[in-house]
Parts: sequence; structure tokens; C-alpha cells
Amino acid sequence: MGVPFRITLYAPDEPSAKAAAEAAFERIALLNAVFSDYDPDSELSRLSRSSGQGRAVPVSRELWRVLEAAQALAEQTEGAFDVTCGPFVNVWRQARRKGELPAEALLAEMKLRVGWRKMRLDPAAQTVELTVEEMRLDCGALAKGCAVDAALALLKARGIASALVAGSGDLAASGPPPGQPGWKIEVATLDGPGAPQPQVVLLRENAIATSGDAFQRLEIGGRRYSHIVDPRTGLGLTDHSLVSVLAPDCGTADRLATAVSVLGPERGLVFIEQTPGTAVRIVRQPGEKVEVLTSRDWPR
Ligand code: AMP
Ligand code: MG
Repeated sequence: MGVPFRITLYAPDEPSAKAAAEAAFERIALLNAVFSDYDPDSELSRLSRSSGQGRAVPVSRELWRVLEAAQALAEQTEGAFDVTCGPFVNVWRQARRKGELPAEALLAEMKLRVGWRKMRLDPAAQTVELTVEEMRLDCGALAKGCAVDAALALLKARGIASALVAGSGDLAASGPPPGQPGWKIEVATLDGPGAPQPQVVLLRENAIATSGDAFQRLEIGGRRYSHIVDPRTGLGLTDHSLVSVLAPDCGTADRLATAVSVLGPERGLVFIEQTPGTAVRIVRQPGEKVEVLTSRDWPR
């Protein structure tokens, strides 16, 4: 998944703490072997290679659950969130390496390979068919959150009641540290005039994920292009923003944060307010000044 994971936990003694953390890291490594789009042998990469062959491929329970959640969100966001966006993401990765924008003809060619309706899921058989040649699935927007949830669930099953698991900017917590109301998390923000004070939220049996272009972006001709693409146009986002979502679990927080980034602030806020148990904070910099928008249930 290309990011470091970190686990903080309370246990009765050091050996049991270490053993539990090691087991959780092993679980994360197993999921990496399912979801990695860097590893050509991952289950996801193998599934991508079946595209256009007219075959419905049986997938593991882990991959099934992630792809099912991805398709539901693609439908709800009318394709703003789309795990079939791999061909576009690859084009933008190359663009970043070369330092030049992708050719329109190349984007047009990739467009034929992208679209959530080109992936068919059969719930009864738990099979996946990629109906067009050269499709590439990319679970970068939700796999980290799912791995965080899986690690936390494993710790719980081993009797660890108080833990924080982080995969880069995606975090989930079980019970709070002893004697405290929650795990204190500082929400990422942007620098610049009008930038808000850093905000601390308390995590406890919930999760937060942040999406945005603060850490990964391409700058050409004074415009910044994010690593998040709009699958409907193939273009890297140019709205400079950080989107943090609170949700009951980290898989949900992760995919919603990416979805809101693509939907943009107006539609994104409405979408989150219609999604029970979730809240969002959007920090953006449309011009010189930094703006902050929060949904109704965001903690104050
Ligand atoms: P995140 O950091 O969770 O927002 O995920 C960003 C990653 O998701 C990118 O690096 C891509 O691998 C992938 N991605 C980019 N655009 C989209 C999109 N519109 N829908 C789903 N995944 C995307
Ligand atoms: Mg995400």
C-alpha cells in the first residue's frame, strides 16, 4: 500500500503488547498482498490482468468486501469515486515523473478503460468481471482504511481494548488510553493566510481519514495537479484541499474522504450530511486565503 503503518496500544505487559502488535502487522502485510497495485503478484493485480477476457473471477472475501463497498460508493457519487481509475492514475504518475501534462489523446485512450460500470460484481458467486481490455483497478483510496480496521479488529480479538492504528493519515481507535477520554489526534491543515489553528479531535471507537494534495502533487505552469483524479474527465484535481472525514470505521472514513475531494466542497458537504454517523472538515485554498468548511456534526 506504499505507506508506513503505526500501532500504539496498551497491554498488561510488554511481551503481550509486542506479540499483539506483531500479529496485527502480519495481518496488514497479508492485506498488502491482496490490495497492492505496486506488486504485480497481488490479488488485485492478477484480477486486473483478467480484464477483457470475458471471465468472471472468484475473489477472496477481503477483496470482495472492498470492491462491493467501492461500487456502492461509485453509484452514490455518480462515478466521482471509482476504483477502475487505475489507467488515469498511472498516466498522472508518469506525468509527475516527466514533469509534463499528459497528452489529450492518451487520456482519451485511457478513458475507454475506465468506468465503474465496466466492472461487474456477482454477489451470489462472489466473482468479478472486468468487461473491457486493459482495465486496472486501484484501491489506493480505500485499502489503507480497511487494513487499519482489520488490524484493530485483530487486536480486539486478542483482548487489547485500547489501541490506535494509523496507516499514514488514516487512523482508527478502539478504547481510549487509560484514564483519558480519547486518543488526541491533530487534524491536518494547510499553511497560509487565514489558516485555522490546528484542531485536535478525540478518537474513541471511531476513525478519521484525510485526503488531499498536500503531500503528493504535480505542478505545471503554476497549476497544481493532485494524485486524485476525476474519473469522469481523467484530469488530476486542481482544487488545493485537505478533506478529513470522521466515521465509525476507517474503511468508510478513507473512501469518503477521497470521494468528497472529487465531489468538491458543495456537493461533498451535502453528501456527508446525508451519510449517517459521518462528519467532514474541508480546508481549501482556492486563492490566497485558506478557507475551512465543516459539516453539521463535525466536533467544535
Ligand atoms: P486517498 O489518499 O485515500 O485519497 O487515495 C488517493 C488514491 O486513490 C490515489 O493515489 C489513487 O491511487 C486513488 N484514486 C485517485 N482518484 C480516485 C478516484 N476518483 N476514486 C477512487 N480512487 C482514486
Ligand atoms: Mg481515501
